[in-house]
Amino acid sequence: MAFALVAHSSGDPLHNPGKSAAAGSGWPARRLFLPLARLLARKATQRHARARLITDRRELCRGRLGLLSALLAVFIPHASAVEVSFSRVSEGVYAHIGETGARSYDNQALNANIGLIVTPAGAVLIDSGATFQSAQKIHAAVKKITPQPVRWVINTGGQDHRWLGNGYFATQGAELIAHAKARPDMQARGGDHLAALTAVLKERAKVTVPMLPTRLIDGDDASLELGGMTLALRHRGGGHTPGDMMVWLPAQKVLLRGDIVYVERMLSVIPESNTRAWLAAFEVIEALSPQHIVPGHGKLSTLALARADTADYQGALRANMKKSVDEGLDVSAAVRSFDAAPYNRLLNAAELMPGNASRTYLELERE
Ligand SMILES: [Zn+2]
Repeated sequence: MAFALVAHSSGDPLHNPGKSAAAGSGWPARRLFLPLARLLARKATQRHARARLITDRRELCRGRLGLLSALLAVFIPHASAVEVSFSRVSEGVYAHIGETGARSYDNQALNANIGLIVTPAGAVLIDSGATFQSAQKIHAAVKKITPQPVRWVINTGGQDHRWLGNGYFATQGAELIAHAKARPDMQARGGDHLAALTAVLKERAKVTVPMLPTRLIDGDDASLELGGMTLALRHRGGGHTPGDMMVWLPAQKVLLRGDIVYVERMLSVIPESNTRAWLAAFEVIEALSPQHIVPGHGKLSTLALARADTADYQGALRANMKKSVDEGLDVSAAVRSFDAAPYNRLLNAAELMPGNASRTYLELERE
């Protein structure tokens, strides 16, 4: 029975005890109840061993252990739940900085940043998270900042964690806004994204339904008046995904930018990406000269940091691949010829660098 208890508490391959012990809100409860639970389990094991040999594993979960498991389930909240919390960026502007690693059961695919703008007439959420349940967590965190309802959600791109939480916010009465180029991308990839998420998030992906935005922004530059605030929207034909759109708050000099800016971690060029449009979007950022940038991924940033971690790398990669295409190098020789050393400091560089280089090469070949 002791074995069964250990299996319950740490045998779950999706559980991450090291991280949750430090960060989980259930930690004091674990400290109190785990020793008690282990003692009870040990005593029960001894009794069982005396009585008979237990061969059916299912029996382990019956009787006293079943009761014990039920008690533990009540007293030990799932310690691997991700925390969502918004920090102040500027007057009325907040950001949740998500994890920089891959999507996981523990982080509920909230491995991206989420923005929040509080107006006198309601809150504007910048991106809705990857699932219905992660959207619920985002909403709970919003409520700690403002009693205003979330009246608008702006999806800054077509990737899962930018919009698959839309369904939840629609149930809260929010209007869903995105660039017109995002919608066909969402339509094409939403089902695959949800299937991939379900494989990782299991029951935490339940109830999620891909819900497309209903208010579409056309063109490169647009302006939205929401709750008495002016939001300037900027689009340059895509970037990480075709519908990437940036939100600029001129009064606060804050830029909230979808996946145009990555800091601390390496950006990801995917088949839907367009690195030429991406760098054109970055030129917009240079011209705006924001005081604060909420990147798509990574910590709250300055323009200098955004330039170093996003534009410098991408500029160098494009220049290298253009030269390679012009000189007739094949793709593998071109990938090898890129001097990656200055960018190995970025998280996830080893995994992402080869794909980024080869996709950029293929794009330049088409140009
Ligand atoms: Zn992303």
